[in-house]
Amino acid sequence: MVGAGAAGLYTSVCAAREGARVTLVSATPLAESSSWWAQGGLAAAVSADDSPELHLRDTIAAGRQAVRESAARVLCEEAPGAVADLDRLGVRFDADRNGRLALGLEGGHSRRRIVHAGGAATGRRLVRQLSAVVAEDPGIDVLEGRRVVELLEADGRCVGVRLDDGRVIASGAVVLATGGAAALWSRTTNPAVAVGAGLLLAAAAGAVLADLELVQFHPTAVVGNGADGFLVTEAIRGEGARLLDAAGERFVDELAPRDEVARAVQRQMALTGAPSVDLDMRDVDPALFPNVVTALRQAGIDPERELIPVAPAAHYMMGGIATDIHGRASLAGLHAVGECSCTGLHGANRLASNSLTECFVFGARAARSAVAQPSPDPAAVADAAGSRDAAGPPPAISPASREALWRNAGLERDGTGLRELTADPHPLVRLIAGCGLARTESRGAHQRRDFPDRDPRFDGVHVTVGADGEAVFQDWT
Ligand SMILES: Cc1cc2nc3c(=O)[nH]c(=O)nc-3n(C[C@H](O)[C@H](O)[C@H](O)COP(=O)(O)OP(=O)(O)OC[C@H]3O[C@@H](n4cnc5c(N)ncnc54)[C@H](O)[C@@H]3O)c2cc1C
Repeated sequence: MVGAGAAGLYTSVCAAREGARVTLVSATPLAESSSWWAQGGLAAAVSADDSPELHLRDTIAAGRQAVRESAARVLCEEAPGAVADLDRLGVRFDADRNGRLALGLEGGHSRRRIVHAGGAATGRRLVRQLSAVVAEDPGIDVLEGRRVVELLEADGRCVGVRLDDGRVIASGAVVLATGGAAALWSRTTNPAVAVGAGLLLAAAAGAVLADLELVQFHPTAVVGNGADGFLVTEAIRGEGARLLDAAGERFVDELAPRDEVARAVQRQMALTGAPSVDLDMRDVDPALFPNVVTALRQAGIDPERELIPVAPAAHYMMGGIATDIHGRASLAGLHAVGECSCTGLHGANRLASNSLTECFVFGARAARSAVAQPSPDPAAVADAAGSRDAAGPPPAISPASREALWRNAGLERDGTGLRELTADPHPLVRLIAGCGLARTESRGAHQRRDFPDRDPRFDGVHVTVGADGEAVFQDWT
């Protein structure tokens, strides 16, 4: 298991429960995963007026005719079971005064269905509790502060990994749970580790990646104030916070899907030349979001009295390592779960809070598939490890490449800017540019100035790419 965010921790627990011996490798301490920072919660149809069918309908609508329905159906149908399992594992979700789960509302959801913990401290509560469970599980060995630098491949199968200290770990199955890539962009809500390391590892081993052009921009990340990029959760808009223009007027339905809200904010900023718009949460009960209010106060903003300057920031990568609904990548033995994977369930625009749910629903499935893989032949692993020089760590991204991504693959892009990125020194930037060039239309998070309309020929189509960088269209059902 590679990665100790929500996906890696939960998949490890599930695999150990199935009797597997798990080695969990994590490059960073807990507080440096996206999972730790998740605020709003996880989406699950658990209330009496809701159903997996309604959740699916909302997911498909948000995804702009690009959702792989089989994967989204799995997510929506299995989400309530995942919440129940987390509860059994000791995660204490917030409850109302009748003891029922307290449910938040976020953009694009037609019902209250966001399960949360500690107000907007969901991520850290989940990670802390799952880490405690992992630490006590005799079936799981944890290697913290170690980085996987290479996937070992023999006879067309992934048979283990090499670590940055040169050690080799043989395994019948490798599960990548290395998180997203939004920190490649210069303005981001993500921790620095979210630079798509797992995507590069998978591509180097010959696995297929998909939909790298589909990166979601969150509309309300703080601007300046010593808290640049700090995300103010959409759940706060669900409780009535409003977005205001320079004249103090509302300019968008705050609970429309994210791509719409982010673009409306961007348009306002372009109209006025201002670096931000204002988020007004003065009428929202601060007790509901204690950690957001504390973080804003520490940054010198009193959200009970003042407006919060916000603007879009790169937030979530819908694309990743292409997998089926069991987390299986195109290379046998290799699995991917969480944000580094691409099942196609988010389409071109992730429905808020479906990503944590994805970590758990597909984590359980990947664990079941991983434990069923055959043990590797030790001689084949030794051959694979000795067949080439040990790989170094993946290349770091330079500030210039991060700026270039923001400029040329931001909320709006065009062929000229994307072509410029195809010559970038960073390999993942080049792959992102290739996927962006291939999708000659505008859809969800991918808005091209030179192709402003949605092209129905791309409905249900995913842009896939291997290490050679050649984009291939696939129709996923
Ligand atoms: C500020 C913020 C708020 C969010 N709020 C929500 C929300 O409310 N609801 C929601 O559904 N989603 C939310 N998201 C998105 C969600 O948090 C992520 O999609 C999800 O947590 C990803 O989990 P993960 O386990 O896939 O990856 P991560 O949590 O990012 O974990 C990745 C792990 O991989 C490790 N790693 C990386 N490379 C290597 C390597 N080479 N070797 C070893 N280890 C490696 C890292 O050290 C880390 O442990 C939010 C994201 C952010 C940034």
